Amino acid sequence: MKEMKKSKKLFEEAKKLTPGGVHSALRFFTPYPIFISKAKGSKIYDVDGNQYIDYHLAFGPVVLGHAHPSITAAVKDQLDKGIIYGLCNELEVKVAKKIATHVPSAQMVRFCNSGTEATYHAIRLARAYTGRSKIVKFEGAYHGWHDIVSFSSNPTLKEAGPEECPVPVPDTAGISEDSAKQVIIVPFNNQEVVEKTIKKHHKEIAALITEPILHGSATCIPPKEGFLKFLREITQEYNIVLIFDEVVTGFRHHLGGAQKIFNVTPDLTTFAKAMANGFPVAAVCGKKEIMENFTPTGNVDYGGTFNGNPISMAATLATIGELEKNEVHKYLFTLGEEIRNQLNQTIAQLEIEAQTVGFGSVFQILFTKREIFNYRDTLSSNNKLFVEFQKEMMKRGIFILPKPNKRCHISAAHTKDDIDYTIEKAREVFKMLR
Ligand code: PMP
Repeated sequence: MKEMKKSKKLFEEAKKLTPGGVHSALRFFTPYPIFISKAKGSKIYDVDGNQYIDYHLAFGPVVLGHAHPSITAAVKDQLDKGIIYGLCNELEVKVAKKIATHVPSAQMVRFCNSGTEATYHAIRLARAYTGRSKIVKFEGAYHGWHDIVSFSSNPTLKEAGPEECPVPVPDTAGISEDSAKQVIIVPFNNQEVVEKTIKKHHKEIAALITEPILHGSATCIPPKEGFLKFLREITQEYNIVLIFDEVVTGFRHHLGGAQKIFNVTPDLTTFAKAMANGFPVAAVCGKKEIMENFTPTGNVDYGGTFNGNPISMAATLATIGELEKNEVHKYLFTLGEEIRNQLNQTIAQLEIEAQTVGFGSVFQILFTKREIFNYRDTLSSNNKLFVEFQKEMMKRGIFILPKPNKRCHISAAHTKDDIDYTIEKAREVFKMLR
């Protein structure tokens, strides 16, 4: 591995111009973040000439691999026809039709530009539709950075309160005191607590928002058998809007979202990340009866200069086209299974206090043997070991994000050779850390 002189120098410059030198806080890590010069297929390259197999994939969007030729071609073609019109374009209709065809909950579709915007819109819509204002959110879930969802995404055990009655812990300074009164935090996969909470507060609850599989700030926690179905039934019973935040799961695990895999249809769904293989685009989808409350048919305001811009739409259409034709998901799931099985076998052989969790093309190594059902279980992982593991893997040309509560992703450009090399190097590093 080459010395990272250029990254270090760029970071010194960046720090003077930008708080912490980074444009999203999670990109910072010690001693300094690496600066990337290009990405192609399953690899990223830093400014010092190092190559890495990329398991970060920009927090998940890059489902087909970096600089995928079909997506690049579709975008280049659109570039010649203009970047943005601020008026309607045909691609919006084509993409909305595709989403409505694939996603069970998507009777109607509205585009925006980021997952945060999408969950913001969905929650505001649910409030207007129900005439109530509180939301129920799971501990350890991340739904973006706007006020109402910025609670208990990543609390310490000390501040989180009792397990059966978690307190809303603000993720950030600067949120209004009132916001905390608008959010109820519950533990994932705990039917009893959710039921009790909803029965007690249902008259004030507008929406329950959840990822179908908890990925956001809690690595990867699949729902227990029947848990999503239970959420569907209880929200229906009390006329609470069920929002599936499929910002991570959508398009990555299935073209119809995780709702298609688990056969549970929410009222509203949010998408972002993988829908355009990395181009900035997001969507709120859902039942016509609720969606038509957005202006101009309803009274819930909805604007955005970049919404539905033809570049992002062209990228989305091309991405969906690729996902439709190539059995991509089958391949992603096979690779995901392969890396999890092999890592777990290595962990068992070397008798390391660790496990690999995951779903489909998502995985993460947790340095704990505890079975993982909710966010608090993930806190038993030895984060120091994880960060050491990450640093050693990086020296060997494998990039995983040095954030133990995040996750690794695989793209369709990853090969069996990438996986085999990763396993070989992980074995070496596990032995060192033993
Ligand atoms: N929801 C989930 C589940 C996410 O993981 C994220 C981002 N990691 C968001 C919403 C916010 O998306 P964005 O960063 O595009 O605003």
